[in-house]
Amino acid sequence: MPHTLTITQAHKKLKTKAISSEELTSACIKQIENVDDKLNAVVHRNFELAIEKAKEVDKKGTFDHTLTGIPYLAKDVYCEKGVPTTACSNILRNKDYVAPFDSTTTQRLKAVGAISIGKTNTDEFTMGASTESSCYGVTTCPWDTSRVAGGSSGGSAAAVAADECTFALGTDTGGSIRQPAGFCGCIGLRSTYGRTSRYGVMSMASSLDSIGSLAKSVEDIALLLSTIAGKDPLDATTSSVPVPDYLVKLNGDIKGITVGIPKEYFPDELDPEVREAIENAIETLKKLGVKTKEISLPHTKYAVPTYYIICPSEVCSNMARFDGIRYGHTAKAGDLIEYYFNARSEGFGDEVKRRIMIGTYALSAGYYDAYYRQAQKVRTLIKQDFEKAFEEVDVIAGPVSPTPAFKIGAHTDDPVAMYLEDVFSVSQALAGIPALSIPCGFSKDKLPIAIQIMGPQWGEERVLNVGYSFQKEAWPEGIPKPEIA
Ligand code: GLN
Repeated sequence: MPHTLTITQAHKKLKTKAISSEELTSACIKQIENVDDKLNAVVHRNFELAIEKAKEVDKKGTFDHTLTGIPYLAKDVYCEKGVPTTACSNILRNKDYVAPFDSTTTQRLKAVGAISIGKTNTDEFTMGASTESSCYGVTTCPWDTSRVAGGSSGGSAAAVAADECTFALGTDTGGSIRQPAGFCGCIGLRSTYGRTSRYGVMSMASSLDSIGSLAKSVEDIALLLSTIAGKDPLDATTSSVPVPDYLVKLNGDIKGITVGIPKEYFPDELDPEVREAIENAIETLKKLGVKTKEISLPHTKYAVPTYYIICPSEVCSNMARFDGIRYGHTAKAGDLIEYYFNARSEGFGDEVKRRIMIGTYALSAGYYDAYYRQAQKVRTLIKQDFEKAFEEVDVIAGPVSPTPAFKIGAHTDDPVAMYLEDVFSVSQALAGIPALSIPCGFSKDKLPIAIQIMGPQWGEERVLNVGYSFQKEAWPEGIPKPEIA
C-alpha cells in the first residue's frame, strides 16, 4: 500500500527500488478513484501527465532528492503551467482558465522531481472555514462524511488524511492550513510571513497569506519547508533569512524548554472534549521534560473582528482584477459598467461578494479611520502580545479550533458563526508568526482534535522540534487513519 507512506518512508523504498515512482503514483491515483466520490477533495486530475513523469524519474533511477518521484496535490489556487486553476470560483471555471506559468512553490517542487497529480478543493478564493463556498461543492471529512473537512484547504487536508497523495500544498490566511489539518487528522504548518513565496498563488489577503504544506509526519513538513522556503526575487515580501535544513535540525530533545499556555485560549465555551485532548497533550509534553507557564495574550478577543476588517479590505482590492476583461468570466452587457456588473455578479459566489462589500465599506473615505486604521493599530497590539510572551516562553500551545469538525450546513446561514470558528487561528496570521497543527486526540465520535504549537518569527525550527517530539511520543505507530464509509 505505497499510497499510505510518508515522504521519508516512500523515499527509502524508491531509493532501494523496493517500489517505483510509477507504482507509488498509480496507488495514489487508484485511491482517488476509490474514495474521492465520497470526499470530493480533488477538483482537477493530471493523471496521465503524472504517470509519464513518474516513468521518467524511474528511468533516471537516482532519486537524488527526498522528494524525487513523490506524488502530491496542490490547492486550486497554485498556478501550474498548463494546468487548469480556478480558485474553485465560477469566475475562472467558466473561462476554463489554464495557468500560463508556475508558482515559485510548484516550480521548486518540479525542480527536485516531485510529481503533481492534480488540484484540490478549496473555499472560493480561500474564503471560508469549511470548503462549502467552493463552486465544486463541499469536501467531506474522511472521518465522518456528514461533516466538513474544514477550510479553506479542506481538499488538501482530506486528500492527505485519506492517502490520496503523499503530501499536499495549502495556503493559510487565517487558519486555512491548520484548521482543516486538525479536522481531518493530518499535520499542517503555517510559516512565518515572508518565509515562503506567494508568487503564482492566487491572493486572498496579501499581508496575511502564507504558503505551506499538509503532510503525514512532522519530518515531511520539515523537509518540504526546507525545499520551498527562502528568498524569491519574484515576491518582494520574502526574506533572505537563511533557510536551515529543518529535517536535520529535528533532534527530538525538548527537555527544559518552556511552553506558554495562554489563558485566553481556554474560555468556558471551549468544547470539553477539545479542552481535555489539549490538556492531555500538554501532560505528554511535560513528560518529555518541558516546563509550562500560564501566560496572557490579552488582545486575543479582538483578533476575529480585526481580521475581518483587514482581510476583506485586502480581498476587495485583490478581487478587482477579476473584471471579466483582465481575468475571468465573460458576460453579456450593453455597456462597460453593465459588463463589470454582470461578469462579477455571475462569476463570484456569496462569500466573495460579502467580503468585497465589507472591504469596500471599511476602506471608504468616511470609514477608513474608524475601521481600517483602527484595525491596523489593534493588529500591532496583537503582535506585541506575542512578542512579550516570547520573552518568557519558547513556544505557545493551545487548541487550533474551538470544536472538532462540524456538520455540513451548520454555519451556512450564519457567516458570523463561521467567522468565530477562526477564533484561535487568526492571531498568528495577524502577527505573522509560525504555527503547527498536529493531531493530539479524538472525540468520542472519533473525530480528530489538534493542538497548535506557535513560535516567534523565524522560529519554525523550534515549533517543528516540539511537534516532532510530541508526534513520536503520542503516535509511535503513525497518526491513525480514517475508514472512509
Ligand atoms: N477561515 C478564514 C477566513 O475565512 C481563513 C481562511 C484562510 O486562511 N484562507 O478568512
